[in-house]
Amino acid sequence: MWQVPVEHRSGCEEKPLTKRRHVEVVALGQVEELAISVAAANIQAILGLMARVVPPWSDPDYAVLPGRGQYNAIPVLKELSRQAENNTLRLGITSADLCLPFLSFVYGEAQVNGKAAVISLHRLKRGPDGKTAPSGLFLQRLAKVAIHETAHVIGMTHCRQQGCIMCFSLELEFLDALSMSFCPDCDLDRRRRVRI
Ligand SMILES: [Zn+2]
Ligand SMILES: [Zn+2]
Repeated sequence: MWQVPVEHRSGCEEKPLTKRRHVEVVALGQVEELAISVAAANIQAILGLMARVVPPWSDPDYAVLPGRGQYNAIPVLKELSRQAENNTLRLGITSADLCLPFLSFVYGEAQVNGKAAVISLHRLKRGPDGKTAPSGLFLQRLAKVAIHETAHVIGMTHCRQQGCIMCFSLELEFLDALSMSFCPDCDLDRRRRVRI
C-alpha cells in the first residue's frame, strides 16, 4: 500500500534535516500537490531516506526535443543535480512526457550513484482502454516509480526477482504487478546504502 503524507514522522527531529542526507522532492512546472507529497512520503517510509517537499521549479521547457513534443530527461537531470549540496539528492516530478534520445519514453530516469532523478506523471495516468486510471492506481504507480528511481540515485541497480520494486518496467501492466517493496537481496543492499 502506498503511504499518504503525514506531518511528522518519528526520527525526523534528531538532527537538523539539512545536515543529513535527504531527498528534495520538487515539482517541475504544474504538478498536483498530492503527487508530490505522496512521492516524498513513500521515499521516506519505504526507501528509508529523509524526504521533504521544496518549492516548485519552473517547467523544464529547455529540455523539449524538437519534433517529438517530449522532454529529454538528460538535461533535466543535469539541472536538478546542479549545485546540489553533498547531502542533498533531488527528485524532480513533471507532468510532461519524458524520453531519452534513444528511447521512445521513460517513466523516470536517474543518475545511478549520482544526485538526481526525474519522473513523469504523463503515462502513469493511463487506465485501460485509454481512459484515465483511478486515482489510487495512479498514486500507487507514482510511488513505485519515485522509490525505484531514487533507489538508483543511491546506487541500487535493476533486479530480476519477480515482483521486486527494482525490476525494470517498460509497460504499465508490469509496473502494476510489482510490489511496493524490495526483495530480500535488494532490501539488504538498500539498508547498507541508506546508512552511508
Ligand atoms: Zn530502473
Ligand atoms: Zn530485488
